[in-house]
Amino acid sequence: MALQLYNTLTRSIVPFEPLFPDHRDADGKQVVGLYCCGPTVYDYGHIGNFRTFVFADLVRRYLEFRGYSVQHVMNITDVEDKIIRKVRETGLPLLEFTAKYTDLFLQDLDSLSCLRPKELPRATNYIGQIIALIEKLVARGIAYKTSDGSVYFSIEKYQGCGCKYGQLVNLNFEAMRVGERVANDEYDKESLADFALWKARVPEDGPVFWPSPWGEGRPGWHIECSAMSMAILGPSFDLHLGGEDLAFPHHEDEIAQSEGAGVQVPGRPFVKHWMHGAHLLVEGKKMSKSLGNFFTVRDLVAKGYTGREVRFLLLSAAYRETFNFTLAGLDGARTALARLDECIGKLQEIAGSTQATAPAAGLVDRFTQAMDDDLNVSSAWAAVFEWVREQNRLLAAGQMTPALAAAELAAWKHVNTVFGISAAAAPEAPAEIVALAEARVAAKKAKDFARADAIRNELKALGWAVEDTAKGPKLKRL
Ligand code: AMP
Ligand code: ZN
Repeated sequence: MALQLYNTLTRSIVPFEPLFPDHRDADGKQVVGLYCCGPTVYDYGHIGNFRTFVFADLVRRYLEFRGYSVQHVMNITDVEDKIIRKVRETGLPLLEFTAKYTDLFLQDLDSLSCLRPKELPRATNYIGQIIALIEKLVARGIAYKTSDGSVYFSIEKYQGCGCKYGQLVNLNFEAMRVGERVANDEYDKESLADFALWKARVPEDGPVFWPSPWGEGRPGWHIECSAMSMAILGPSFDLHLGGEDLAFPHHEDEIAQSEGAGVQVPGRPFVKHWMHGAHLLVEGKKMSKSLGNFFTVRDLVAKGYTGREVRFLLLSAAYRETFNFTLAGLDGARTALARLDECIGKLQEIAGSTQATAPAAGLVDRFTQAMDDDLNVSSAWAAVFEWVREQNRLLAAGQMTPALAAAELAAWKHVNTVFGISAAAAPEAPAEIVALAEARVAAKKAKDFARADAIRNELKALGWAVEDTAKGPKLKRL
């Protein structure tokens, strides 16, 4: 089976086929353009936000696993309504304020083992491209200037050009009053109206403004993504991702702006394939800043959890299904990972320095089959844990050879290029525990087995197990 993905544009699961099959990189791999809407850098991200970024990381990693070369772009929204409000409150210069939260965001992305996107464009570096795009829309009569020096997108004019507004979501145009405008970046379907492309400078913006053909002002949020994605990936590209709340109005507006500018080859869309990740919930409600029901990655680390455990939990449910976040869920992630780590540790001991000639097929095949089915991670993890059971059975029966262990480890390593569940950090034993373990080795060497056993019991009482392996004794926290 080929890779199949749900496309919000067609509301169906379709085979994934690159838009430009002949576009190849230096290694001969087909190139795929992927844009994911990035964070608005005005505060720490919460793990709901990171569910979406881990989802984008999964899509990128699986496409790479499938042999594509992925041009992964994630923007940083560093000028927008909420940011301006915060800049006003803190009195910090815009760039200083946003640089801080951009750095914190990237640190959290690293702690969740997300691969860094290949490009991280910041909106304030693309003001020229944003203005040029708005100019195209004005020239085509689709955007218009208002008396205050703002520029709005006319949905009526856009539809009049034969374009469709409402490609990702069904809209009720009856509810729309022609000429009604919405200045805020965020609005809902009930507020269907012309939206702002350029917002004229107002006193509350303070020093945040740029010159433009329409006077001083700043861009709207939606045009930022159209300008950045097309500047880097071209007027038509393969995949556009984001959380489900972005489908309307953000992504709908992105389509309207990008296709309204008429920069695509006729018949080719702005984006071929739209993917939206479902929300992370808390007690049935979307995790969000406004509801105050959120955890940041740092909150969870302070509670003793690791980025690895958070990543595992976020990757445990299929991306189109919402799920409830709980701390018990994280405890479950810890238990599952311990089972996996133990099995991998045993395989590593047996494999020693033996190199695999090729990865064992079973796990890779079952994993690929599951992931080809619209990234069905639930069944991909089921395949992994079935594999763990099978390896444990072989280990217990003494049937695991170094060559087999090496081949199975290579299979896990290949699968893990997608899951990105980094190796568990071995807990560091304190010096006195290490000293006891060394004393036990000395006792065994001197054939004083009673003393060796006594030390083992002493270690156990202190919460440490000692296992004799081919490479010598190994300390493990009980
Ligand atoms: P923002 O920084 O607010 O622009 O959001 C960044 C990303 O997080 C967007 O793609 C949102 O759709 C996504 N997002 C926000 N809340 C959640 C949530 N509870 N679950 C999953 N994704 C979310
Ligand atoms: Zn966006």
